Amino acid sequence: MSFKAEYIWIDGTEPTAKLRSKTKILADGAELPVWGFDGSSTNQAEGHASDRVLKPVASFPDPIRGGDDVLVMCEVFEIDGTPHVSNTRAALREVAERYAAQESLFGIEQEYTFFQGSRPLGFPDGGFPAPQGGYYCGVGADEIFGRPVVEKHLENCLAAGLGISGINAEVMPGQWEFQVGPLSPLEVSDHLWVARWLLYRTAEDFGISATLDPKPAKGDWNGAGAHTNFSTKAMRENYAAIIEAAESLGRDEKPLEHIKNYGVGVESRLTGAHETAPWNEYSYGVSNRGASVRIPWQVEVDQKGYIEDRRPNANMDPYVVTRLMVDTCGSALEK
Ligand code: ADP
Ligand code: MN
Ligand code: MN
Ligand code: MN
Ligand code: MN
Repeated sequence: MSFKAEYIWIDGTEPTAKLRSKTKILADGAELPVWGFDGSSTNQAEGHASDRVLKPVASFPDPIRGGDDVLVMCEVFEIDGTPHVSNTRAALREVAERYAAQESLFGIEQEYTFFQGSRPLGFPDGGFPAPQGGYYCGVGADEIFGRPVVEKHLENCLAAGLGISGINAEVMPGQWEFQVGPLSPLEVSDHLWVARWLLYRTAEDFGISATLDPKPAKGDWNGAGAHTNFSTKAMRENYAAIIEAAESLGRDEKPLEHIKNYGVGVESRLTGAHETAPWNEYSYGVSNRGASVRIPWQVEVDQKGYIEDRRPNANMDPYVVTRLMVDTCGSALEK
């Protein structure tokens, strides 16, 4: 007897990488082997030397196929064993290890938008829906578009054992959010990438597509972000560490270094309108949804907890964003 393993990896598509996957049939009880693929078809190699290597790093029960079948998250390597340039997880492994004693945790709020054809789901052909106001956490067919897909996706994430912690309808019609975490940097990132794969795969069966485009509708419509909630053990115990983390993100060249790595098109979303801070002005504040970094009001009351970096785009790479946050806040908190 055999089982199916769906090997999932991140490709080299510019400017924003895409998910790819293919299936391997394995004998019952077999370990997940290293595998190869044609890197010239994924912008990860030239045709004359196209073999690239998939190394399994995390596996989950496959909720689509069921049974003993699995989803396998992979890192991409060169045939000489060095990480491929597109392999952003390799750098996170090193930074996470360096600051392991700080026990960093992340909760990521993934916003996304359903499309049917060339229009966001719920946008009438050739026109626009009623302005924003009633859609966020709404109910009813006049406000909610795509709920069966969202419910199925949630079921699938839970069945896969992903650390999904909630869902909500967002401010624009057809726009939704799911949250992953709190989990360690590597876990939250692996789980988020697999949850994204399951989103596309689940919606496929409904004839609907999902996009992480940070500004899927031009004009007076909210963009899509990936608010990144972060804490260390010290931050979960005292407020001075909360303030130091928020301060450290605003020091020297840090604001620009982070923004540049928070997803393509971040300037188009962080305009200063629609619950965002302008991309080129770092700020933090308690309860402030117009700041770059928010300290939730409950955290000020409790004098401990976590901070929310509101800048990352929906299309960000969690391996990159969590690495930068662990590195910047971690080195400041070490002092
Ligand atoms: P909001 O929409 O109000 O910004 P959400 O409820 O969507 O908030 O998301 C809050 C996130 O914060 C959740 O993903 C949760 O996992 C995360 N979170 C809660 N506590 C911590 C913590 N100590 N460290 C890191 N993340 C946390
Ligand atoms: Mn072939
Ligand atoms: Mn949220
Ligand atoms: Mn949101
Ligand atoms: Mn948020």
